[in-house]
Amino acid sequence: MSSLASPVQVSILGATGSIGQSTLDVIARYPDRFQVFALSGHSNMAQLARDIKAFSPRFVVVPNNERRLELQRLTDAAETEILVGEQALSDVASAPEVDAVMASIVGAAGLDSSLSAAKAGKKLLLANKESLVVAGALLMDAVAHSGAQLMPIDSEHNAIFQCLPNGQTNQGVESVLLTASGGPFREFSLEQLAHVTPEQAVAHPNWSMGRKISVDSATLMNKGLELIEACWLFDLTPADIEVVVHPQSVIHSMVRYVDGSVISQMGAPDMRTPIAYGLAYPERIVSGSDRLQFTSALQLSFDQPDRVRFPCLRLAEDAMRLGGTAPAILNAANEITVAAFLNRRIGFTEIARINEQVLTDSNIETVESVEQLRDVDQRARQLAAAAVEV
Ligand code: NDP
Ligand code: MG
Repeated sequence: MSSLASPVQVSILGATGSIGQSTLDVIARYPDRFQVFALSGHSNMAQLARDIKAFSPRFVVVPNNERRLELQRLTDAAETEILVGEQALSDVASAPEVDAVMASIVGAAGLDSSLSAAKAGKKLLLANKESLVVAGALLMDAVAHSGAQLMPIDSEHNAIFQCLPNGQTNQGVESVLLTASGGPFREFSLEQLAHVTPEQAVAHPNWSMGRKISVDSATLMNKGLELIEACWLFDLTPADIEVVVHPQSVIHSMVRYVDGSVISQMGAPDMRTPIAYGLAYPERIVSGSDRLQFTSALQLSFDQPDRVRFPCLRLAEDAMRLGGTAPAILNAANEITVAAFLNRRIGFTEIARINEQVLTDSNIETVESVEQLRDVDQRARQLAAAAVEV
């Protein structure tokens, strides 16, 4: 990009979270190249106030008036307008001035704004994997119709994208190898798993992430959600994907070709690498990540996932095979059970048990609309909440 080009205007949804902060860290290195158009936060107004000061966005989005008042007490930046409510998230994702949208809200709450960015033909930097899990067909349709550029930010999918010519799987690809760290309880017995605490679950051995995805990594639901995400992004079925446990998180995923070649993408476990790749694609820019050192200290090992101790992976594979609304049902149940585990209302192994119960007890429908998916999501949440109460 020439220095005379006008800066890329970026909206960062979920700016106060782990991915949002890493995105701002990369953007701060290139003030002439990227400009923050909008930021959103949900509860952390102190962080949002600091980011307003540092990046002077045109807009910030907060969920309600209480948060708006709280934020107004913390900032006096006249050039930033505070918008309130869910519709405003979609508005700043689709505004004509915006070039790129970082979708880094956690959970199905990110769906509407991801869809808005896709429909408006933006460069969509997708960290919010739940959007694709819940509404993969609708989101991919929106991208195809508008000509939006969908860049996977999830490290595995970013790696797969990098290992494929133009992100396409139609040129001699035999399978995709989706790597998983195995999480903090990789070697725990079922008996030990029943007694793990939220503190242990959110302490991931390699990655520093938000609380929900950290628990998902510990149950392997994260790998299940990622398998569904990969099916939509790269036009695959679960049979095309091999999940490989690789505890060091140095290889971020691989593609196996029919001629026997396996291509991998490697790097330090730091989300700034896929974020920088997505932001600057097809250029490469410095991200702030550590360099990988190829010394004797670098040991790479591999194993098979255990679907008996970690049934969430199997549940996600089943849901994708069932198709229709099944992944949306599983995702909704999982959001409720993970929150219940974090609030100490259920044990760790109850997450998978209740998720399975909700999936089994729900009718699976063909996906028709976002409104239908919202209903499906609500019903599954109610079933899961009722099971938590028992
Ligand atoms: P965090 O919990 O750290 O951040 C979540 C962000 O979403 C915060 O800005 C939070 O605001 C906001 N938020 C929470 N609830 C709502 C809501 N109901 N409506 C609108 N905004 C909301 O999560 P992560 O950054 O770890 O993850 C974000 C997404 O990226 C997830 O989908 C995750 O799966 C995906 N991802 C994350 C990776 C990582 O390394 N962290 C890696 C790959 C994917 P506030 O904090 O102000 O309450
Ligand atoms: Mg990932």
